[in-house]
Amino acid sequence: MQTRNVKVGQLGIGNGFPVRVESMLRTPLHDLHGCLEEVRSLAVEGCELVRIAFPEMVLSGNLSKLVEGSPIEIMADIHFDHRLAIEAIRSGCRSIRINPGNMGGPRRIRELSSAVNDSGVVVRIGANSGSLSRTQLERAKGDAGRALFDAVQEQEEILHCCGVEDIIVSAKSSSLDETLRANSLIASGSCHPIHIGLTEAGPGQRGIIKSSVAVGSLLGSGIGDTVRISLTGTSLEEVVVAKRILQSLGIRRFEAELVSCPACGRRRADVDSLVRIIEPLLKNLRKDLKVAVMGCEVNGPGEATDSDIGIAGTPSGIVLFLGGKPIGYCSLEELPSQFMKVCRETGLCLGSHD
Ligand code: SF4
Repeated sequence: MQTRNVKVGQLGIGNGFPVRVESMLRTPLHDLHGCLEEVRSLAVEGCELVRIAFPEMVLSGNLSKLVEGSPIEIMADIHFDHRLAIEAIRSGCRSIRINPGNMGGPRRIRELSSAVNDSGVVVRIGANSGSLSRTQLERAKGDAGRALFDAVQEQEEILHCCGVEDIIVSAKSSSLDETLRANSLIASGSCHPIHIGLTEAGPGQRGIIKSSVAVGSLLGSGIGDTVRISLTGTSLEEVVVAKRILQSLGIRRFEAELVSCPACGRRRADVDSLVRIIEPLLKNLRKDLKVAVMGCEVNGPGEATDSDIGIAGTPSGIVLFLGGKPIGYCSLEELPSQFMKVCRETGLCLGSHD
C-alpha cells in the first residue's frame, strides 16, 4: 500500500521523501542547557527529528525554549495525560508521540484531536510489545506480531474518528520476528508513514547488530519511512548507526564509502592505524566516492580497483593509488596531508565537480 506523507514543520516524511533519521534525547527536560547542547550535536551528526520525554506540565517553559533553540524538529513524547499533549502543541512542537488509547477516554481524545487539527501537528502513535495487554494477546491467539498490528489499528481508528489524518505509525518489539511480522502487516494494512526500529535492542555491538538486522530487513522490503535505532548508549551513536544502515542499503548517502581489508599475514602496515587516519578525512570528500584502505601493495590495489582512491602498506611506506594504479608514496606521518593533497588535485574534495 502506498503511504501518504506528512510534514513535521518543514520535514517531509513518507512517500516521496528520504527515509528520516531519528533519535531520542537522553538529557531530561529539566536541564534545558543540556538538552540544547545534545540536540545541536545531534543535528550536526545528521539527526532530522528528535523525541523528548515531556512528563510534567511545569516543564512547558523549557519545552518552548528547546523548540525555539533547536535546529531540528522536536517530537514531544507523552504518556497518559492529554493536557500535556495539548501543552506540547502550545509550546510549539510540530509533532507529538501518544497512545490515543491511554489519553483518558473519548472526550479527552476529542479535545486533543481538535488541538491537533487546528495546529497541523503530526501525531505518532504505536504499540510496543511490552505494553500489550493479555486480552490483546489472547485476541491474536498468542501471535504477538498480529497483536501489535491490531493495537496500532485500534489507535489509528480512534484518531480517524476524530478527523486526525496526519499520523505516523509504529510497532516495536525487542523480538526480531514480532517486529518484522507486525510491520509487514502494517505496511499492507495502513496508509500512514511507518516509523521503524527495534525496542530495547541492548547495549553496544549487541544492540547495533540486532537493530541492523531488523531495520535492514524491513528497509530491504521497502518498509519504513523514518528510523530510530534504540541503543543503551548515546543518542549520537543511534544516529551514526541509522545513517550507516541507510547508506549500506544504498537508500541514502551521507559520506564517502570506506572499505578496508581485514589484514592478514601479508600486511605491510597496521590497517587499524591507517583507518584511524583516513576515517576523519572522509567528511572533506565527495559523498559519491569509495575510499580503500589496504594492508599490502601486492593484493591491495588489485582488490580495491573499484575504489576512487586508496592507500596500501608497502615495505617502504604508504602507497597512494587512484583507480588501482599507484601514484606516489609517503610516510605514515605525511599520510593525512598527502592524501588530502591528492584529493584536492584530482577533484575528489567536497565542492569539486561530480
Ligand atoms: S590487502 Fe593484503 S593485507 Fe589486506 S587482506 Fe588482502 S592480502 Fe592481506
